[in-house]
Amino acid sequence: MIQVSIIIPVYNEEESLPELTEWISRVVVKNKLTYEVIFINDGSSDSSWEVIQSLARENGHIKAVGFSRNYGKSAALDIGFSKAIGEVVITMDADLQDSPDEIPELYNMVVKGGFDIVSGWKRKRYDPFTKTIPSRFFNGVTRMISGIKLHDFNCGLKAYRNKVVKQIHIYGEMHRYIPLIAKWNGFSKIGEKAVEHRARKYGTTKFGLERFVHGFLDLISVSFVNRYKKKPMHFFGTLGTLSFLSGFLITCWLIFEKIYGLHKGIFVREITDQPLFFLSLVALIVGVQLFLTGFLAEMMTSTSTPKNDYNIDEELNFIN
Ligand code: UDP
Ligand code: MG
Repeated sequence: MIQVSIIIPVYNEEESLPELTEWISRVVVKNKLTYEVIFINDGSSDSSWEVIQSLARENGHIKAVGFSRNYGKSAALDIGFSKAIGEVVITMDADLQDSPDEIPELYNMVVKGGFDIVSGWKRKRYDPFTKTIPSRFFNGVTRMISGIKLHDFNCGLKAYRNKVVKQIHIYGEMHRYIPLIAKWNGFSKIGEKAVEHRARKYGTTKFGLERFVHGFLDLISVSFVNRYKKKPMHFFGTLGTLSFLSGFLITCWLIFEKIYGLHKGIFVREITDQPLFFLSLVALIVGVQLFLTGFLAEMMTSTSTPKNDYNIDEELNFIN
């Protein structure tokens, strides 16, 4: 086993790659760390893949996966996670905004400090405010939902114990919430390290405004779907019970009202003539339906096996 795997998702970053690779090699060699760098070309339309190919030819530590189209950063990380053989797995953006100088310390925090995850914290951030303000909001909400005290959930620079990355599966925009997913998978030693952040040197950001909408929707999936996916009945069953119970209570009330009316000689309309009767019917039926949906989801989870369905064009330097 080697000491560090460095996973780098790449989407149109041709200018940065040689400099980044050179910098990483310098740092790991100086610190005597055994390593591999795994580039995932996420369907770049520039010459990133050609650059990666030539880097991988020169240096056997450099491995690469080439997607046939753009699947997004989460998918790229997901494949990298499944390939990584290092004791510690470090993710890093390709655009030179993260500094490879942080690698040795991140490695030590996992190996010696006993952390499952160490998340980078861009304390002084070099991004436009259109990005830093929404990011503050997301971080606040995520902290509240998860109870994990991190300043910067979405920092691209993170280190993981190998076991952690083998257990989590991400897609969509879920890379923004990896610490939450890890926590729900039972990895609770989550630490933070203030890291140096730099302005983008080449190219532009790959995430437009839609990231806020997608990020928000994925926060919902991560917090609900991930929590309940192995026990969907807990979610649907609870809603179903509430609905059924309210229908039942309304029916009881209608029956009581009718009997009370008969007893006191007060005129009360027939139960089936009451507007509330329809509400109770709907609540009862919806309750049963939700229960059945829960059963169905439960049966599907117990029989399905998760799979990665990304189309890989080519792989470089992997031994098996
Ligand atoms: N990236 C990717 N697929 C995408 C978008 C981005 O692999 O669809 C990579 C990108 O090449 C970079 C990292 O994810 O290495 C972070 O992207 P970017 O720097 O654009 O994000 P920002 O720093 O603006 O949040
Ligand atoms: Mg960036």
